[in-house]
Amino acid sequence: MTALKPQMISPDTHADLTALRRDLHTHPELGFEEHRTSNIVARRLEAAGLEVTRGLGGTGVVGTLRKGTGNRAILLRADMDALAMTEVTGLPYASQSPGKMHACGHDGHTVMLLGAAEAMAQRDFSGTVHFVFQPAEEGRGGGAAMVRDGFFDRFPVDAAYGLHNAVDMPLGHIAAVEGPQLASSDRWWVTFRGIGTHGAKPHNGRSAMTAAGLFLAQVHNIVAQEVNPLKTAVISACAMQAGDFEALNVVPAEATIGGTARSYDEGVRTYLEEAIARHAQGIAASLGIAVDVRYTRGISAVVNEAAPTEVARRAITRALGEDAVITAIDPVMAGDDFSEFGMRVPGCYVHLGMGPMRPGGQHHGTNYDFNDACIPAGVAWWCAVVEEELR
Ligand SMILES: [Zn+2]
Ligand SMILES: [Zn+2]
Repeated sequence: MTALKPQMISPDTHADLTALRRDLHTHPELGFEEHRTSNIVARRLEAAGLEVTRGLGGTGVVGTLRKGTGNRAILLRADMDALAMTEVTGLPYASQSPGKMHACGHDGHTVMLLGAAEAMAQRDFSGTVHFVFQPAEEGRGGGAAMVRDGFFDRFPVDAAYGLHNAVDMPLGHIAAVEGPQLASSDRWWVTFRGIGTHGAKPHNGRSAMTAAGLFLAQVHNIVAQEVNPLKTAVISACAMQAGDFEALNVVPAEATIGGTARSYDEGVRTYLEEAIARHAQGIAASLGIAVDVRYTRGISAVVNEAAPTEVARRAITRALGEDAVITAIDPVMAGDDFSEFGMRVPGCYVHLGMGPMRPGGQHHGTNYDFNDACIPAGVAWWCAVVEEELR
């Protein structure tokens, strides 16, 4: 069963966007290095008659269309960056840049939004649309860079929409689900500073190793025992450093543990930050040693609001038919810095089905490839969002 309607975009347009998608796939660029990609995007937007702003947040591009008398404005966002990994697909259009690969489908996201911009340049609506081509989604802070560069001052908007491809979801179906989609993603480091000593004379020192061991047990207990079981949170210790295997008669003075903390809720997020520090300080105090705690907030959670989610669903029905609407999916603890837009104005982030995944073809897998068969559905949905928002 497929929800694809043949009239969504012409076969010529589909072929053109597929060729461009494969060209971008052959020439992947990492975050903030998307010079070739953003240049292609900007030129095509200009050729289609959009007002184009280049260089926002480094390599970001914004294409603006204003029509009619409506004063409502929306942003539609795609990401352009690739990942630092080596492709093994063996496809004729596989990456020609060793160590760089479009393994998350941002090549597909870029051409679908570009196709929608070109289509809407020819169609009527009333209001303003900013087509946002964001750099550096994969952990390098491209969304934040665009906001720091004054995105919301220069392009004030009333709502924000984002789309990501989904493997193993029916081809051309779209999930628009209210509530948490992707988690906040923060990093923490705890360094215990004790007094180093001879391994045979532990009583002469204060062991940072012991502190680290106690902390490791307690930090993983925060989610289990302190966070409301009906709320979602993750704390994982992911790195640890202390001592020297060449000196197994030395109790080291320092031990450092670091990890990640994730949640869907700002209250839970703040709680995790405080709890990590409290446990570290409590253990240090009990052992009579010092401790440094560092906690860095990364991206915020992507949480879909009711009103734009309703618009997104109407757009799916309008573009693809009611059968294509998916209303329930499980959220995941990965992140997407679409939240830089979606946390400042009401937002909705949807998932576009690409059909069954091939072996090793999951996101960030070395055998991943975007499915060009879902381009028409993506373009049609973006256009329908504009038509539903700016009638
Ligand atoms: Zn990714
Ligand atoms: Zn992605």
